[in-house]
Amino acid sequence: MNTSTTTQQTDIKSLLKTHFGYDDFLANQEEIINNVLDQHDTIAIMPTGGGKSLCFQLPALAMQGTAIVLSPLIALMKDQVDSLKANGIAASFYNSSQHYEEQQEVLRNLQDETLKLLYVAPESLPQLIFILKSVKISLFAVDEAHCISSWGHDFRPAYMQLKSLKEQFPDVPLIALTATADRPTREDIAAQLAIPNAETFIASFDRPNLYLDVRPGQNRNRQILSFLAKRGNQSGIIYCLSRKSTEKLADTLKSKGYKAEAYHAGLSSEERSEIQENFVNDRTPIIVATIAFGMGIDKSNVRWVIHYNMPKNIEGYYQEIGRSGRDGLASHTILFYSFADVIMLRKFAEGTETEAYQLAKLERMQQYAEALSCRRKALLGYFGEHITEDCGNCDICKTPPKYFDGTLIAQKVCSAVARLQEQEALGMVLDVLRGAQNAQVYDKGYQHIKTFGAAKDISWRDLQQYVIQLLNQGILQIYFHENGRLLLTPLAKKVLFENKKVRLANVLQETEIVKTDKAEKSSRKRADLFDKLRTLRTKLANEIGMPAYIVFSDASLED
Ligand code: ADP
Ligand code: MG
Repeated sequence: MNTSTTTQQTDIKSLLKTHFGYDDFLANQEEIINNVLDQHDTIAIMPTGGGKSLCFQLPALAMQGTAIVLSPLIALMKDQVDSLKANGIAASFYNSSQHYEEQQEVLRNLQDETLKLLYVAPESLPQLIFILKSVKISLFAVDEAHCISSWGHDFRPAYMQLKSLKEQFPDVPLIALTATADRPTREDIAAQLAIPNAETFIASFDRPNLYLDVRPGQNRNRQILSFLAKRGNQSGIIYCLSRKSTEKLADTLKSKGYKAEAYHAGLSSEERSEIQENFVNDRTPIIVATIAFGMGIDKSNVRWVIHYNMPKNIEGYYQEIGRSGRDGLASHTILFYSFADVIMLRKFAEGTETEAYQLAKLERMQQYAEALSCRRKALLGYFGEHITEDCGNCDICKTPPKYFDGTLIAQKVCSAVARLQEQEALGMVLDVLRGAQNAQVYDKGYQHIKTFGAAKDISWRDLQQYVIQLLNQGILQIYFHENGRLLLTPLAKKVLFENKKVRLANVLQETEIVKTDKAEKSSRKRADLFDKLRTLRTKLANEIGMPAYIVFSDASLED
């Protein structure tokens, strides 16, 4: 280590203490900060609550000039600036919510170079470019950088303004921060922001103290009551899809003597902040909420989170369960999985601009809920983090299904994905492996590739289930941004080249073509029927000691 790095490190440690009051860095913060201080472009991927803000706030203090922070939410901007000011740091923000005079004052401060940080809404950036060129800029920070990805779950068109930043300010280091870690998003961020040489830092998304539990969504109220009976006065959050169901469930809990409140965007802001405060101060231990609840709530001792309904994607699920156990103590999470929810969530996605993408993410969420291997592996694998050991702290690890040696199947699948150059989605990969003689296959000349027909002895549906298991085991990944093509992960390379053993669970076909009279039966009713089938499946699986699968014909899912 040379002297300048040593000096740098003592300096940033003392800045951490004097300005933020912390003694130590959280995972990756120090490395990221040093990279920025060395004037390199950086991509920082950290889970929500991982401490991303500090990664640009601290360098902003240590460097000359003003740091420009691009941030999508005007409301959060003010909060961040307020708390910086409270720490004695010269910070300000510039966005369309301000009066002309306020904006002018900010611009004066910017020109006088008295600000260490200036938060700017991306849509307001063009108005500032001229001035920015005339002052010393220490760094650009693009917070929530996944918003630049046009296929992202949170795409903001205004983020397109940031595409030319690097070109206009080639000498100013740029740091992009996000909690969305999958490889495709990462690559897209680097491409869109034109920072191909950025160093990428990925903090672990693992929250080993959270027990991951997925249960069939039947008799949810009864299941919740018996869960709560063992939980004393512990704090917890129950997430529901609709405002109405938050109120209904909160009423049920209250009638059973629990201190619970409903929380949703339909309440006045006074009501909402009162409920939040009562929760944070342990006066109301249970909140039954829509996903509106949780952003910006700093409560370390939430002991459990229940998803009454299935979230629409894994990002949301991860974020919501992550609100429990921030203190590192054991916490329990339960996801209720019901097919009725899937149908409802599909309806929400239908007709939207990003329908295909949302449906693909929903399907991935469903696959997680149906996982037959360690949930944590599936969850972390989704975020591009690949663990080799089962976690021992999820429902599957507690009661695992019977496995067989699926190494050969896994090798065939991975090899097909590789030979298709990671360009094809699940359906085509299956067709190729099964040697399907159809036009799409022939058009692309895939009948000539080496793995064509390599798994023709396995039925389409079985093979599909195996590939899903490989996804859940983090061996494959889906590129949601582009037609859901399958990608190989570092684990896949181990399967292909290091003979890594792969276990697969048996898939028992219990094909049910449910004949329903379209005119008579609402999809709701059908969904209930599917749920009954699922219970049957569980029973059957218990009887025979291996997992059973219900395979729904595509036709039965259509409306
Ligand atoms: P993110 O943007 O990654 O979701 P934040 O930057 O909002 O996370 O930080 C989350 C919390 O962690 C904040 O309460 C912040 O004050 C705290 N925090 C950040 N860095 C540290 C640190 N080095 N030590 C202790 N707490 C920290
Ligand atoms: Mg943040």
